Amino acid sequence: MSYAQKIIEQVKAKDPNQPEFIQAVTEVLESLEPSLKAHPEYEKAGLLERIVEPERTVMFRVPWVDDNGKVQVNRGFRVQFNSAIGPYKGGLRLHPSVNLSIIKFLGFEQIFKNALTTLPMGGGKGGSDFDPKGKSDGEVMRFCQSFMTELYRHIGPDTDVPAGDIGTGAREIGYMFGQYKRITDTFAGILTGKGLSFGGSLARTEATGYGLIYIVEEHLRCIDEGLEGKTIDISGAGNVAIYAAQKAGQMGAKVLTMSDSTGWIYDPAGVDVELVKQIKEVERGRLSVYPERRKGVNVEYHEGAGVWKIPCDIALPCATQNELHLEDAKTLVANGCSIVAEGANMPTTVDATQYLQKNKIVFLPGKAANAGGVATSGLEMSQNSERLSWTFDEVDAKLKNIMVTIYHDTRDAARQYNHAGNFVLGANIAGFEKVASAMLAQGVC
Ligand code: GLU
Repeated sequence: MSYAQKIIEQVKAKDPNQPEFIQAVTEVLESLEPSLKAHPEYEKAGLLERIVEPERTVMFRVPWVDDNGKVQVNRGFRVQFNSAIGPYKGGLRLHPSVNLSIIKFLGFEQIFKNALTTLPMGGGKGGSDFDPKGKSDGEVMRFCQSFMTELYRHIGPDTDVPAGDIGTGAREIGYMFGQYKRITDTFAGILTGKGLSFGGSLARTEATGYGLIYIVEEHLRCIDEGLEGKTIDISGAGNVAIYAAQKAGQMGAKVLTMSDSTGWIYDPAGVDVELVKQIKEVERGRLSVYPERRKGVNVEYHEGAGVWKIPCDIALPCATQNELHLEDAKTLVANGCSIVAEGANMPTTVDATQYLQKNKIVFLPGKAANAGGVATSGLEMSQNSERLSWTFDEVDAKLKNIMVTIYHDTRDAARQYNHAGNFVLGANIAGFEKVASAMLAQGVC
């Protein structure tokens, strides 16, 4: 049994009830085989044993009072996975599905994603099973304040810098920042994705979606193509999906679909991003109202999931983990799709990924393709440290540069290990080797 397989078995035995974490570990470790063979020193140093174990895991009670005066209790998490190359960095997910397995899978992925950004950020993730959907602003604020009342002791600008993820946007970050400041009496860059008036970075809001389009664009440029005239299926209607759709539209592509947790739309004229922003970001409503408000276009709305049925050149899963299944992959291939780039974290199931790769679809995994968000968080940290703020164009140019670098580092790593075109292997190895060399240099810790 190979070193990687041995560690995968150990993780399965230790955490049998953490399927998402096991899935992420298996996917990463299996693709590291060529690197582990070339670097026997990794095994000698027990590197994999250490890298699959979070440096610290915090689980805590989050009590708050709802609008009816009733006490509610949620569970809070922060997994500080790896600090070899910088302070822990990663978002806070607020969603009823959140549990330790999901936070560990996300934190594990974050280690390699953050390494790929070229910036000095370790990996972490947190969140809660709190569901912001349908809650009043007051309820969300009380939850966020209670959450930070515990979290504040574990974070710091040089220790751990959380940010947004599903369910955590500008509103939640604002409430959490306010509570941190109140408890500690310090104005510090302890969160990213902050409002622009209190240390946020221009282009952070747009960064994940824009970055996703930049990496796809770089791939197309390398094969003498462009986004102009391409058709795109997007799933999701959150921060990633919205700004991916916006940038794709600006570059002359046509976005045909978007979805939320109740249903999906097919807009043959190209999705009206401003309308989606109004419905999802301002009204916090459902996409089901999109067709009646989209004047002059016959839009289809369907309940449930289904965006991948619409023929497209490029598919961008931007909703959540394990949303693109084998059947969807088969449909995409049959309909002539040539690129799948993950805007969400691990949205493609293992068998679907394998099917896409076997059928010569260019598959850009999330840890490369959606790294623009956390990369721009890194740029927000830099601006906070120097107490300056850069212009939108400055940040956007740096983001673009980072995405282009990620594309080439990933492609080159795959080529170096004789797996040209395998961006999953390339991204995992490129991210891992950076972290591995830092861990080796720092001794057993
Ligand atoms: N939640 C985002 C991610 O999955 C961003 C994290 C951050 O900005 O720290 O990478």
